[in-house]
Amino acid sequence: MDTPLARSNTVPPIEPAAAEALAATLHAPLYRPGEEGFDSCCHIWNGMIERRPALVARCSGTADIAAGVRFARDHELPVAVRGGGHNVCGHALGDNGLMLDLSGLRAVYVEPRAGRARVEPGATWRDLDRETQLFGRIVPGGIVSATGVAGFTLGGGFGWSTRAHGYAADRLVSADIVTADGEVRHADAEAEPELFWALRGGGGNFGAVTSFEFETRPLGPTAMAGLALWPLDRAGAVLDLFREITAAASEQFCAMLVLRRAPPLPAVPKEMHGAPVAGIAACHVGSIADGDAAMTPLKQARGKITDTIAPKPFTAFQQMFDAGQPFGRRNYWKSDYFDAVPPAMDEALIAYAADIPSPHSALLCMHLGGAAKRVDSGATAVGNRGAEFVANIQSAWEDPAEDDRNLAWTRGYWEALRPHSNGGVYVNFMSGDEGEARLRAAYGDETFRHLAAIKARYDPDNLFRFNQNIPPAGRV
Ligand SMILES: Cc1cc2nc3c(=O)[nH]c(=O)nc-3n(C[C@H](O)[C@H](O)[C@H](O)COP(=O)(O)OP(=O)(O)OC[C@H]3O[C@@H](n4cnc5c(N)ncnc54)[C@H](O)[C@@H]3O)c2cc1C
Repeated sequence: MDTPLARSNTVPPIEPAAAEALAATLHAPLYRPGEEGFDSCCHIWNGMIERRPALVARCSGTADIAAGVRFARDHELPVAVRGGGHNVCGHALGDNGLMLDLSGLRAVYVEPRAGRARVEPGATWRDLDRETQLFGRIVPGGIVSATGVAGFTLGGGFGWSTRAHGYAADRLVSADIVTADGEVRHADAEAEPELFWALRGGGGNFGAVTSFEFETRPLGPTAMAGLALWPLDRAGAVLDLFREITAAASEQFCAMLVLRRAPPLPAVPKEMHGAPVAGIAACHVGSIADGDAAMTPLKQARGKITDTIAPKPFTAFQQMFDAGQPFGRRNYWKSDYFDAVPPAMDEALIAYAADIPSPHSALLCMHLGGAAKRVDSGATAVGNRGAEFVANIQSAWEDPAEDDRNLAWTRGYWEALRPHSNGGVYVNFMSGDEGEARLRAAYGDETFRHLAAIKARYDPDNLFRFNQNIPPAGRV
């Protein structure tokens, strides 16, 4: 769903002289289609997405970003903002618009005494963790370190420490942003509070964020964490164990169910490579002693083919899934939130896992709740805070000839699990074909209406529409 607005992305071609004038105001390069540098800016994580911006500005700072937004406003060009380029819908790329490529802006500044971190908009979680972990601190990030901090945080953002420390958006203290009028604004609880509310969950709808300021929390630098895998024929017992440990979990403990084919890792016996497996990945964000105790049921469970649960640098655990998620593969996701993972789901969970078409695909079901659930649902624009679990069917494959098979498996799996979901969806896990009803399900009606009103105030012409688009109120 690139844009629900009637307005199309077919805009008049940009006159060469106008592009030259923009190039002259930028510090960083401006690329047109066909020029060296253009294609590499358009290479994003999901290789299924092929779109062609009219212009790409590889911004070197806020002045470039502001110049780009003003140019886009004056020429009625829709703007796509690229942070980490990881969005499964490929929203960093838009046809016929101006792409602001912020991926070169990756600096992170930690102020240890204030417990704050200021992050540039192209930074990844690897960049941020590296700096905060110097001081034994974190901002709650995701499970793959190459993911961009920007798009992640703007959509909410959860991971191993969310049960203890909330969403990434909950730890956002302020943001600097260039809005559609080309103005640079500072948003926090006092300045532009409505905009600040919308930036914590409402996605990239409100402008191009140039800087994120986070409150950090203590973690590590060593954490008890790892992955245990069993052959799929033990999946019933693994699901029971998952229910048992999540029901007993403290807020410092997070477990994630993993159904996939065994990856060809040294820790996995060769004869199991490629075989369907059931696993539990887990991380304890408190002391090693408490983590050890929390992991006991997992450590004692029998019949495993591998178990990597041990004290390790938190940054190493954060990077554990990276190799399995390279840029450029074909990817398609379907996801829902759940209040529970009851035994009634087991049959569908296991049947589709047994039939998984690609060695790169997986069903991941993460335990949420905890601190994230205790925040008032109106405090930010993050939706579905009540959910205890999020399940994401992540399909990934190489060959376009395999598209139909993989899409059908993903959709079939999702349909089979849906009757057990609570009907909510996470905005950052939505695919590009879901429609406005699903976007409303990501927020709930009240938050959606509130976001639409703020959108009308800050971006009435929907300049920023390459995102999970909130139509400006009164303009649909
Ligand atoms: C392998 C993988 C693992 C993931 N794991 C998790 C996880 O554990 N937890 C989780 O919550 N999510 C996870 N995600 C989802 C992730 O939150 C989204 O894909 C998110 O959009 C990534 O942000 P990005 O900056 O890399 O994206 P981009 O593709 O660069 O941008 C995504 C959206 O954000 C907008 N945007 C980006 N930067 C800015 C900016 N500076 N100002 C305004 N708008 C901006 C873009 O316009 C676009 O609409 C994962 C994604 C992948 C691919």
